Formats: sequence, structure tokens, C-alpha cells
Amino acid sequence: MSDDLLIVGAGPIGLACAISAKRRGFDPLVIDAGPIAAAITRYPVGMTFFTTPERLEIGGHPLVCSGAKATREEALKYYRGVVRAEELRVRTFVRLADVRRDGDTLRCRLTSRTADAEHLAAKVVLATGYFEHPNLLGVPGEALAHVSHYAEEPHVTAGLDVVIVGAKNSAIEQALNCFRAGARVTVISRRTELKPSVKYWLRPDFENRVKAGEISVRWGAAVTAIDAGGVTISIGGRHERLPADKVYLLTGYRPDFDLFRRAGIALDQESCRPVLNPETLETNVPGIHMAGSVTAGLNISEVFIENGRYDGEKIFGDPASRTRAEAAYSRETRATGE
Ligand SMILES: Cc1cc2nc3c(=O)[nH]c(=O)nc-3n(C[C@H](O)[C@H](O)[C@H](O)COP(=O)(O)OP(=O)(O)OC[C@H]3O[C@@H](n4cnc5c(N)ncnc54)[C@H](O)[C@@H]3O)c2cc1C
Repeated sequence: MSDDLLIVGAGPIGLACAISAKRRGFDPLVIDAGPIAAAITRYPVGMTFFTTPERLEIGGHPLVCSGAKATREEALKYYRGVVRAEELRVRTFVRLADVRRDGDTLRCRLTSRTADAEHLAAKVVLATGYFEHPNLLGVPGEALAHVSHYAEEPHVTAGLDVVIVGAKNSAIEQALNCFRAGARVTVISRRTELKPSVKYWLRPDFENRVKAGEISVRWGAAVTAIDAGGVTISIGGRHERLPADKVYLLTGYRPDFDLFRRAGIALDQESCRPVLNPETLETNVPGIHMAGSVTAGLNISEVFIENGRYDGEKIFGDPASRTRAEAAYSRETRATGE
């Protein structure tokens, strides 16, 4: 099977790239290891975006939402709608397992639930984000069935002891959601206090629940083991075991650097940032480009939807659209203070 242009990842940035390409006469095939916008399906249920809706828009399609900011559900509906409106060719639940240059062509190994196939392409855009690869704690019990690296529907935690590891937005939101669903929640963090970047509407809610003794917190603590009924932590030089029917390890994610290395893509040793042509986002492997959060290496919070959505213009545009994309990128990056 062969297609000139393969875009890997049907997240907001992969879709934006597909639109840019289509408007330049390409007929891209977009594949995704999960559903459309898989990363957003993993956000806490009902989550409200920090970003205002117009900055989540791609291809000029308006994102209409009921409040000032879009919810997870509104964004999912929006990106599905964009695929439909742009008539993008998207194949979901197809994973890029490997890609390598072979003479004039890029040989891609695609896997799905039912088949493995080789796909030949002249150009490949990797817009694979980072949600597929959680930062593992490396402690015993991390792979047990009641342990998850993603936020989940909180209703299932009613009446349960829930331990949440991490204290960034997703962890705090999951803690509040589980508490409201009737769980007994304990948050564990290596930090000594909440990060300043915690959303301004979550912070007072969380702090008040802690003050009222409704949510417990163990600051300055590290998980040492997880077993079927509890989590052991090290805190202040001693060990403590907390009961846990459900454990959420919300300690961040990283791009699939192994996939990139197997493809021969050069990464900076320290930051794992891919070495890219800044104008076209092409890697050192001719024909392989990167877009979206993967371009930031380990620093995943540097490129997000707001500023990554211009990457397709850099890859497929002419010099004028590249300049416009670069200016828009800098503006959005400055605006969000990242
Ligand atoms: C809770 C939360 C809230 C956020 N809020 C905001 C916000 O308010 N504003 C904002 O701008 N950003 C926000 N972000 C960040 C935003 O989600 C990411 O920056 C954005 O999703 C990156 O888009 P992307 O298209 O580069 O990657 P992703 O959205 O992660 O898409 C990558 C896609 O590639 C697929 N994929 C991965 N590997 C493969 C493979 N080998 N083969 C095939 N497919 C593959 C994945 O399934 C996924 O669908 C938030 C993130 C979180 C966790």
C-alpha cells in the first residue's frame, strides 16, 4: 500500500497539518493509534480548557462552546466535526510501529488489531504527541489492574479509597472529581506545595477541600511500592501505608523517543528535542517532518495546541505562510507565558 503523504497522529496538530497539506493539493492519509483526538479523550471528564476557544481552532473552523472556554466534550465534538467538514482521510486504531528511509521511499510498518502492513510514503509527518507514554515511577505494583496512568470517569470511585500521585492540573482535577463522586481521596506529591500553574479555578477549590479535611495530602512524599490494597510512601524519613482501591499515577508523559531513534532521527542528548529545520520542521531523515508537542522533546509543555497548530503551515506552506506561522507561533507562545 502506498500514499504520498502519511500523517501520524489525529490529534489537533496532526489534523491541522492534514488541512494545510490538503489546501496545497496533497491527499494526506492520517492514521492514529487510538481514536480522533485520543489525548483529549484522556483528559478528566468534564474538564474545561485553559485556552480560550479561538486558540484551539484549526483550519479556520469556529469552535462554538456554551461557556467562555471549551470543555473536553466540546473539543472532542469540534475536532470530529473538522475531520468531517474537511473530508480528511483518517484511519483510527492504526499504529505506526516503525518508519525507515529506504532509497527514495519511507517504509512504514503499520499495525492494527487485525493486521500488520507495510506502507510506502514519500513524506511522513510525525505528530504523535506524548500521551501514549506515561512517565513510569518504576516501583513494584505499578502494573496492577487497579493502577492507572490516566484520569478516569470518577463515578467508578464512589465509596473507594483513592490515591492520586501528582499535583499538576490533571491530578488536582481528578482528586476533586473523585471526592465529589464520593471517594476518600489522598493526593501524594514530591512537591511541598501546589505549582503556580495550577488553574486559578481549581486552586481555591482544592485548597479549601484540604483545609476542611475532605481531601488528604502528603506533600514531600515518594511512592515506594503499590500492592493490591494500598500504597506505601516514604515521607520525612519514615514509611507510611495508605489504603487504596484505585491508584492514579498522574505524573506526566513523554514522546516515543524510541520510535524516533529507530527511525534514525537525531535528538538532542539532554532535552531529547529533535534536530529540525526550523523553517520546514524536517528532521535529519529526508522526508520525515515533526509537528506539535513532539517538537519540544522532554519539555512537553512548550508546544501545545495554541502554538503547535501552525506547524502544518511551516511544513506545507510557501515562505510567506511560514513567516506568518512563525509570527503566530511566537505571539501565542508569549501570550501564554510558556
Ligand atoms: C489535562 C490537560 C489539559 C490541557 N489543556 C490544554 C489547553 O487548555 N490548551 C492547550 O493548548 N493545550 C492543552 N493541553 C495540551 C494539549 O493536549 C497537547 O499540547 C496537544 O494535545 C498536543 O497536540 P498534538 O496533536 O501534538 O498531540 P496529541 O493531541 O497527543 O495527538 C497525538 C496523537 O498521536 C497518536 N499516536 C501516538 N503515537 C502514535 C503512533 N505510533 N502511531 C499512530 N498514532 C500515534 C495518539 O493516539 C494521539 O491521538 C492539555 C493537556 C492536558 C493533559
